[in-house]
Amino acid sequence: MSDILKVSCVVGARPNFIKMAPLMAELTRRPRWRPQLIHTGQHYSPEMSDQFFQELQIPRPDVHLGLAGGSPTKQTADILVALEPILDTFRPDVLIVVGDVTSTIASALTAVRLGLKVAHVEAGLRSFDRTMPEEINRIVTDSLSDYLFTSEPSGRENLQREGVADSRIFFVGNVMIDTLLRFREQAKQSNVLSDLGVKEKGYAVATLHRPANVDDPGRLADLVGVLNRVAEKLPVVFPVHPRTKNRMEELGLGTGRLQLCPPQGYLDFLRLTSSARLVLTDSGGIQEETTILQVPCLTLRKNTERPVTITEGTNHLVGMDPERIYSVASEVLASARPTGDQVPQFWDGKASVRIIDTLEQQLS
Ligand code: UDP
Repeated sequence: MSDILKVSCVVGARPNFIKMAPLMAELTRRPRWRPQLIHTGQHYSPEMSDQFFQELQIPRPDVHLGLAGGSPTKQTADILVALEPILDTFRPDVLIVVGDVTSTIASALTAVRLGLKVAHVEAGLRSFDRTMPEEINRIVTDSLSDYLFTSEPSGRENLQREGVADSRIFFVGNVMIDTLLRFREQAKQSNVLSDLGVKEKGYAVATLHRPANVDDPGRLADLVGVLNRVAEKLPVVFPVHPRTKNRMEELGLGTGRLQLCPPQGYLDFLRLTSSARLVLTDSGGIQEETTILQVPCLTLRKNTERPVTITEGTNHLVGMDPERIYSVASEVLASARPTGDQVPQFWDGKASVRIIDTLEQQLS
Protein backbone atom coordinates (compact mmCIF):
# COMPACT_ATOMS: atom_id res chain seq x y z
CA MET A 1 0.00 0.00 0.00
CA SER A 2 1.29 3.48 -0.91
CA ASP A 3 2.02 6.19 1.62
CA ILE A 4 -1.02 8.13 0.52
CA LEU A 5 -4.25 6.81 1.96
CA LYS A 6 -7.46 7.44 0.07
CA VAL A 7 -10.70 7.59 2.04
CA SER A 8 -14.29 8.16 0.98
CA CYS A 9 -16.63 9.61 3.61
CA VAL A 10 -20.39 9.53 3.10
CA VAL A 11 -22.92 11.81 4.79
CA GLY A 12 -26.61 12.27 4.20
CA ALA A 13 -28.57 13.49 7.20
CA ARG A 14 -28.19 15.88 10.14
CA PRO A 15 -26.67 13.56 12.75
CA ASN A 16 -24.13 12.41 10.16
CA PHE A 17 -22.91 15.92 9.46
CA ILE A 18 -22.31 16.39 13.18
CA LYS A 19 -20.44 13.06 13.50
CA MET A 20 -18.43 13.40 10.27
CA ALA A 21 -17.29 17.00 10.93
CA PRO A 22 -14.43 16.12 13.34
CA LEU A 23 -13.32 13.20 11.16
CA MET A 24 -13.09 15.44 8.09
CA ALA A 25 -11.17 18.02 10.16
CA GLU A 26 -8.69 15.34 11.26
CA LEU A 27 -8.31 13.88 7.76
CA THR A 28 -7.68 17.24 6.11
CA ARG A 29 -5.13 18.12 8.82
CA ARG A 30 -3.01 15.07 7.94
CA PRO A 31 -1.15 15.36 4.59
CA ARG A 32 -1.08 11.61 4.20
CA TRP A 33 -4.82 11.33 3.65
CA ARG A 34 -6.69 12.08 0.47
CA PRO A 35 -10.35 12.36 1.48
CA GLN A 36 -13.32 12.30 -0.86
CA LEU A 37 -16.49 13.63 0.77
CA ILE A 38 -19.77 12.41 -0.69
CA HIS A 39 -23.17 13.90 0.20
CA THR A 40 -26.08 11.68 -0.73
CA GLY A 41 -28.59 14.54 -0.42
CA GLN A 42 -30.74 12.50 1.99
CA HIS A 43 -31.35 15.53 4.28
CA TYR A 44 -34.88 16.90 3.95
CA SER A 45 -33.77 20.52 3.55
CA PRO A 46 -30.86 21.58 1.31
CA GLU A 47 -30.75 24.98 3.08
CA MET A 48 -30.37 23.39 6.53
CA SER A 49 -27.80 21.00 5.12
CA ASP A 50 -25.74 23.97 3.82
CA GLN A 51 -26.05 25.69 7.19
CA PHE A 52 -24.66 22.62 8.98
CA PHE A 53 -21.73 22.40 6.57
CA GLN A 54 -20.93 26.06 7.12
CA GLU A 55 -21.31 26.07 10.91
CA LEU A 56 -19.41 22.84 11.40
CA GLN A 57 -16.70 23.92 8.95
CA ILE A 58 -17.08 20.80 6.83
CA PRO A 59 -15.41 21.12 3.41
CA ARG A 60 -17.70 21.30 0.39
CA PRO A 61 -18.60 17.79 -0.74
CA ASP A 62 -16.53 16.51 -3.65
CA VAL A 63 -19.61 14.72 -4.90
CA HIS A 64 -23.27 15.56 -4.30
CA LEU A 65 -25.64 12.79 -5.33
CA GLY A 66 -28.78 14.93 -4.89
CA LEU A 67 -30.92 11.97 -3.89
CA ALA A 68 -33.50 13.63 -1.62
CA GLY A 69 -37.02 12.29 -1.40
CA GLY A 70 -38.70 8.91 -1.55
CA SER A 71 -39.03 6.16 1.01
CA PRO A 72 -35.97 4.81 2.83
CA THR A 73 -36.11 1.79 0.51
CA LYS A 74 -36.04 3.96 -2.59
CA GLN A 75 -33.28 6.09 -1.11
CA THR A 76 -31.25 2.96 -0.36
CA ALA A 77 -31.66 1.73 -3.93
CA ASP A 78 -30.86 5.16 -5.40
CA ILE A 79 -27.69 5.45 -3.31
CA LEU A 80 -26.51 1.96 -4.33
CA VAL A 81 -26.88 2.80 -8.02
CA ALA A 82 -25.45 6.32 -7.87
CA LEU A 83 -22.55 5.58 -5.52
CA GLU A 84 -21.14 2.48 -7.20
CA PRO A 85 -19.39 4.22 -10.14
CA ILE A 86 -18.07 6.96 -7.85
CA LEU A 87 -16.46 4.57 -5.39
CA ASP A 88 -15.29 2.32 -8.21
CA THR A 89 -13.50 5.23 -9.89
CA PHE A 90 -11.90 6.62 -6.71
CA ARG A 91 -11.13 3.16 -5.22
CA PRO A 92 -10.53 4.40 -1.65
CA ASP A 93 -8.39 2.40 0.77
CA VAL A 94 -11.34 2.66 3.15
CA LEU A 95 -14.88 4.04 3.26
CA ILE A 96 -15.90 5.74 6.52
CA VAL A 97 -19.58 5.70 7.49
CA VAL A 98 -21.09 7.09 10.69
CA GLY A 99 -24.24 6.41 12.69
CA ASP A 100 -27.35 4.61 11.56
CA VAL A 101 -29.16 6.44 8.75
CA THR A 102 -30.11 5.23 5.27
CA SER A 103 -26.91 6.68 3.74
CA THR A 104 -24.86 4.66 6.26
CA ILE A 105 -26.23 1.23 5.37
CA ALA A 106 -26.50 1.93 1.63
CA SER A 107 -22.95 3.19 1.21
CA ALA A 108 -21.47 0.39 3.33
CA LEU A 109 -23.22 -2.17 1.11
CA THR A 110 -22.02 -0.48 -2.08
CA ALA A 111 -18.41 -0.49 -0.86
CA VAL A 112 -18.47 -4.13 0.19
CA ARG A 113 -19.85 -5.14 -3.22
CA LEU A 114 -16.82 -3.42 -4.77
CA GLY A 115 -14.41 -5.24 -2.46
CA LEU A 116 -13.58 -2.06 -0.52
CA LYS A 117 -12.90 -1.88 3.21
CA VAL A 118 -15.48 -0.21 5.45
CA ALA A 119 -15.04 1.55 8.80
CA HIS A 120 -18.19 2.12 10.87
CA VAL A 121 -18.07 4.88 13.44
CA GLU A 122 -20.56 4.49 16.31
CA ALA A 123 -20.65 0.72 15.87
CA GLY A 124 -22.29 -1.79 18.20
CA LEU A 125 -25.12 0.34 19.59
CA ARG A 126 -28.27 -1.75 19.98
CA SER A 127 -31.78 -0.89 21.10
CA PHE A 128 -32.83 -4.55 20.59
CA ASP A 129 -35.94 -3.17 18.89
CA ARG A 130 -36.07 -4.34 15.29
CA THR A 131 -39.11 -2.19 14.56
CA MET A 132 -36.74 0.80 14.53
CA PRO A 133 -35.33 1.35 11.04
CA GLU A 134 -32.12 2.61 12.65
CA GLU A 135 -31.63 -0.71 14.48
CA ILE A 136 -31.65 -2.61 11.17
CA ASN A 137 -29.25 -0.05 9.71
CA ARG A 138 -26.89 -0.56 12.67
CA ILE A 139 -26.94 -4.37 12.57
CA VAL A 140 -26.43 -4.60 8.81
CA THR A 141 -23.75 -1.89 8.68
CA ASP A 142 -21.81 -3.53 11.51
CA SER A 143 -21.98 -6.92 9.83
CA LEU A 144 -20.57 -5.40 6.62
CA SER A 145 -17.77 -3.42 8.26
CA ASP A 146 -14.09 -4.31 8.66
CA TYR A 147 -13.29 -1.76 11.38
CA LEU A 148 -15.86 -1.17 14.11
CA PHE A 149 -15.32 1.97 16.19
CA THR A 150 -17.39 1.97 19.36
CA SER A 151 -18.45 4.97 21.43
CA GLU A 152 -19.32 3.26 24.72
CA PRO A 153 -18.63 -0.09 26.45
CA SER A 154 -21.98 -1.66 25.42
CA GLY A 155 -20.82 -1.49 21.78
CA ARG A 156 -18.11 -4.11 22.25
CA GLU A 157 -20.38 -6.39 24.30
CA ASN A 158 -23.09 -6.30 21.64
CA LEU A 159 -20.69 -6.94 18.79
CA GLN A 160 -18.99 -9.81 20.61
CA ARG A 161 -22.38 -11.38 21.26
CA GLU A 162 -23.02 -11.21 17.52
CA GLY A 163 -19.75 -13.02 16.85
CA VAL A 164 -17.61 -10.11 15.66
CA ALA A 165 -13.88 -10.81 16.16
CA ASP A 166 -12.41 -8.71 18.94
CA SER A 167 -9.55 -7.64 16.66
CA ARG A 168 -12.00 -5.65 14.51
CA ILE A 169 -13.49 -3.69 17.45
CA PHE A 170 -11.88 -0.43 18.60
CA PHE A 171 -13.23 1.52 21.58
CA VAL A 172 -12.45 5.11 20.66
CA GLY A 173 -15.16 7.30 22.19
CA ASN A 174 -17.80 9.58 20.79
CA VAL A 175 -17.31 11.76 17.71
CA MET A 176 -20.55 13.65 18.38
CA ILE A 177 -18.96 14.85 21.61
CA ASP A 178 -15.82 15.87 19.66
CA THR A 179 -18.08 18.30 17.79
CA LEU A 180 -19.88 19.48 20.92
CA LEU A 181 -16.63 20.28 22.74
CA ARG A 182 -15.16 21.96 19.68
CA PHE A 183 -18.13 24.32 19.21
CA ARG A 184 -19.32 24.77 22.79
CA GLU A 185 -17.64 28.16 23.28
CA GLN A 186 -18.78 29.45 19.92
CA ALA A 187 -22.38 28.44 20.66
CA LYS A 188 -22.37 30.82 23.63
CA GLN A 189 -22.46 33.70 21.11
CA SER A 190 -25.87 32.56 19.80
CA ASN A 191 -28.82 34.90 20.41
CA VAL A 192 -31.36 32.09 20.34
CA LEU A 193 -32.46 32.52 23.98
CA SER A 194 -33.36 36.18 23.55
CA ASP A 195 -34.86 35.50 20.11
CA LEU A 196 -37.18 32.94 21.67
CA GLY A 197 -37.74 34.99 24.82
CA VAL A 198 -36.50 32.34 27.27
CA LYS A 199 -34.08 32.63 30.18
CA GLU A 200 -31.02 30.62 31.22
CA LYS A 201 -32.23 27.42 33.02
CA GLY A 202 -35.82 28.70 32.89
CA TYR A 203 -37.25 26.51 30.12
CA ALA A 204 -37.37 22.98 28.71
CA VAL A 205 -36.56 21.81 25.18
CA ALA A 206 -38.55 19.04 23.46
CA THR A 207 -37.84 17.16 20.22
CA LEU A 208 -39.78 14.29 18.65
CA HIS A 209 -39.14 12.58 15.34
CA ARG A 210 -39.05 8.80 15.74
CA PRO A 211 -41.76 7.04 13.68
CA ALA A 212 -42.89 5.11 16.80
CA ASN A 213 -43.84 8.44 18.40
CA VAL A 214 -45.01 10.62 15.54
CA ASP A 215 -46.69 8.16 13.15
CA ASP A 216 -49.18 6.81 15.69
CA PRO A 217 -51.92 9.45 16.10
CA GLY A 218 -52.87 8.41 19.64
CA ARG A 219 -49.25 8.34 20.78
CA LEU A 220 -48.49 11.73 19.26
CA ALA A 221 -51.60 13.25 20.83
CA ASP A 222 -50.57 11.80 24.23
CA LEU A 223 -47.04 13.17 23.94
CA VAL A 224 -48.12 16.64 22.81
CA GLY A 225 -50.62 16.55 25.70
CA VAL A 226 -48.00 15.77 28.34
CA LEU A 227 -45.58 18.34 26.93
CA ASN A 228 -48.39 20.85 27.38
CA ARG A 229 -48.77 19.80 31.01
CA VAL A 230 -45.02 20.27 31.54
CA ALA A 231 -45.43 23.71 29.91
CA GLU A 232 -47.67 24.70 32.82
CA LYS A 233 -44.53 24.49 34.99
CA LEU A 234 -42.01 26.17 32.67
CA PRO A 235 -41.88 27.25 29.00
CA VAL A 236 -41.32 24.34 26.60
CA VAL A 237 -39.47 25.19 23.38
CA PHE A 238 -40.27 22.63 20.70
CA PRO A 239 -38.15 22.79 17.51
CA VAL A 240 -40.44 20.79 15.27
CA HIS A 241 -39.12 18.34 12.76
CA PRO A 242 -41.12 18.83 9.51
CA ARG A 243 -42.35 15.27 9.77
CA THR A 244 -43.78 15.90 13.23
CA LYS A 245 -45.29 19.26 12.26
CA ASN A 246 -47.09 17.65 9.31
CA ARG A 247 -48.45 14.94 11.55
CA MET A 248 -49.65 17.45 14.14
CA GLU A 249 -51.43 19.49 11.48
CA GLU A 250 -53.00 16.41 9.88
CA LEU A 251 -54.36 15.36 13.27
CA GLY A 252 -55.57 18.86 14.14
CA LEU A 253 -53.45 18.86 17.32
CA GLY A 254 -53.25 22.39 18.64
CA THR A 255 -49.92 23.56 19.99
CA GLY A 256 -51.47 24.94 23.21
CA ARG A 257 -48.78 26.36 25.47
CA LEU A 258 -45.88 24.87 23.53
CA GLN A 259 -43.47 27.27 21.93
CA LEU A 260 -42.98 25.80 18.46
CA CYS A 261 -40.04 26.86 16.31
CA PRO A 262 -38.40 25.42 13.20
CA PRO A 263 -35.50 22.94 13.55
CA GLN A 264 -32.46 24.93 14.65
CA GLY A 265 -28.96 25.11 13.26
CA TYR A 266 -26.27 23.31 15.26
CA LEU A 267 -24.93 26.29 17.21
CA ASP A 268 -28.35 27.65 18.17
CA PHE A 269 -29.54 24.21 19.20
CA LEU A 270 -26.42 23.60 21.26
CA ARG A 271 -27.01 26.92 23.02
CA LEU A 272 -30.64 25.97 23.60
CA THR A 273 -29.87 22.58 25.13
CA SER A 274 -26.88 23.86 27.12
CA SER A 275 -29.03 26.42 28.92
CA ALA A 276 -32.19 24.31 29.33
CA ARG A 277 -33.44 23.14 32.73
CA LEU A 278 -34.76 19.93 31.16
CA VAL A 279 -34.77 18.18 27.77
CA LEU A 280 -37.50 15.77 26.62
CA THR A 281 -36.57 13.87 23.46
CA ASP A 282 -36.66 10.71 21.40
CA SER A 283 -33.37 11.56 19.65
CA GLY A 284 -30.30 9.38 20.00
CA GLY A 285 -27.64 12.07 19.86
CA ILE A 286 -29.38 14.44 22.25
CA GLN A 287 -29.22 11.83 25.03
CA GLU A 288 -25.44 11.92 24.65
CA GLU A 289 -25.10 15.68 24.39
CA THR A 290 -27.19 16.33 27.53
CA THR A 291 -24.97 13.90 29.43
CA ILE A 292 -21.94 16.07 28.69
CA LEU A 293 -23.89 19.31 29.20
CA GLN A 294 -25.14 18.11 32.63
CA VAL A 295 -28.74 18.79 31.64
CA PRO A 296 -31.39 16.26 32.75
CA CYS A 297 -32.81 14.39 29.76
CA LEU A 298 -36.09 12.44 29.64
CA THR A 299 -36.00 9.94 26.79
CA LEU A 300 -39.52 9.34 25.52
CA ARG A 301 -38.85 5.83 24.25
CA LYS A 302 -39.13 2.25 25.51
CA ASN A 303 -35.43 1.59 24.99
CA THR A 304 -32.13 3.27 24.35
CA GLU A 305 -29.15 2.03 22.37
CA ARG A 306 -26.99 4.38 24.48
CA PRO A 307 -27.13 2.87 28.01
CA VAL A 308 -24.04 4.72 29.23
CA THR A 309 -26.11 7.93 29.19
CA ILE A 310 -28.22 6.39 31.96
CA THR A 311 -25.53 4.67 34.00
CA GLU A 312 -23.04 7.54 33.81
CA GLY A 313 -25.09 10.43 32.51
CA THR A 314 -28.20 12.53 33.03
CA ASN A 315 -30.60 10.42 30.96
CA HIS A 316 -33.87 8.96 32.31
CA LEU A 317 -35.58 6.39 30.12
CA VAL A 318 -39.26 7.16 30.77
CA GLY A 319 -41.17 5.45 27.95
CA MET A 320 -44.24 7.00 26.36
CA ASP A 321 -46.82 6.83 29.14
CA PRO A 322 -47.93 10.45 29.77
CA GLU A 323 -48.42 9.96 33.52
CA ARG A 324 -44.95 8.55 33.96
CA ILE A 325 -43.38 11.27 31.82
CA TYR A 326 -45.17 13.96 33.81
CA SER A 327 -44.23 12.45 37.14
CA VAL A 328 -40.52 12.07 36.29
CA ALA A 329 -40.44 15.59 34.78
CA SER A 330 -41.96 16.96 37.99
CA GLU A 331 -39.43 15.07 40.14
CA VAL A 332 -36.51 16.29 38.05
CA LEU A 333 -37.72 19.89 38.16
CA ALA A 334 -38.16 19.68 41.93
CA SER A 335 -34.67 18.32 42.53
CA ALA A 336 -31.31 20.06 42.39
CA ARG A 337 -29.66 20.44 39.00
CA PRO A 338 -27.02 17.81 38.19
CA THR A 339 -23.55 18.90 39.20
CA GLY A 340 -21.52 15.70 38.76
CA ASP A 341 -18.54 15.83 36.48
CA GLN A 342 -18.46 12.15 35.61
CA VAL A 343 -17.93 11.75 31.88
CA PRO A 344 -18.16 8.46 29.95
CA GLN A 345 -14.74 7.17 28.98
CA PHE A 346 -13.23 8.79 25.85
CA TRP A 347 -16.00 11.38 25.52
CA ASP A 348 -13.16 13.85 25.61
CA GLY A 349 -13.05 15.48 22.18
CA LYS A 350 -10.38 13.14 20.81
CA ALA A 351 -12.38 10.25 19.36
CA SER A 352 -11.69 11.26 15.76
CA VAL A 353 -7.94 11.44 16.43
CA ARG A 354 -8.07 7.87 17.79
CA ILE A 355 -10.08 6.70 14.80
CA ILE A 356 -7.73 8.11 12.19
CA ASP A 357 -4.66 6.92 14.15
CA THR A 358 -6.14 3.42 14.22
CA LEU A 359 -6.95 3.45 10.51
CA GLU A 360 -3.41 4.58 9.69
CA GLN A 361 -2.01 1.64 11.69
CA GLN A 362 -4.46 -0.87 10.23
CA LEU A 363 -4.05 0.20 6.61
CA SER A 364 -0.26 0.63 6.60
N1 UDP B 1 -30.07 19.10 16.43
C1 UDP B 1 -29.94 20.33 15.78
N2 UDP B 1 -31.06 21.12 15.62
C2 UDP B 1 -32.30 20.74 16.07
C3 UDP B 1 -32.42 19.48 16.72
C4 UDP B 1 -31.28 18.67 16.86
O1 UDP B 1 -28.84 20.70 15.38
O2 UDP B 1 -33.27 21.49 15.90
C5 UDP B 1 -28.88 18.24 16.57
C6 UDP B 1 -28.63 17.72 17.97
O3 UDP B 1 -27.83 18.61 18.71
C7 UDP B 1 -27.91 16.44 17.72
C8 UDP B 1 -28.44 15.94 16.41
O4 UDP B 1 -29.10 17.07 15.82
O5 UDP B 1 -26.52 16.68 17.57
C9 UDP B 1 -29.41 14.81 16.61
O6 UDP B 1 -30.07 14.55 15.44
P1 UDP B 1 -31.42 13.71 15.36
O7 UDP B 1 -32.17 13.87 16.61
O8 UDP B 1 -32.04 14.08 14.06
O9 UDP B 1 -30.90 12.24 15.14
P2 UDP B 1 -30.60 11.03 16.09
O10 UDP B 1 -29.51 11.45 17.02
O11 UDP B 1 -31.87 10.65 16.77
O12 UDP B 1 -30.15 9.98 15.14
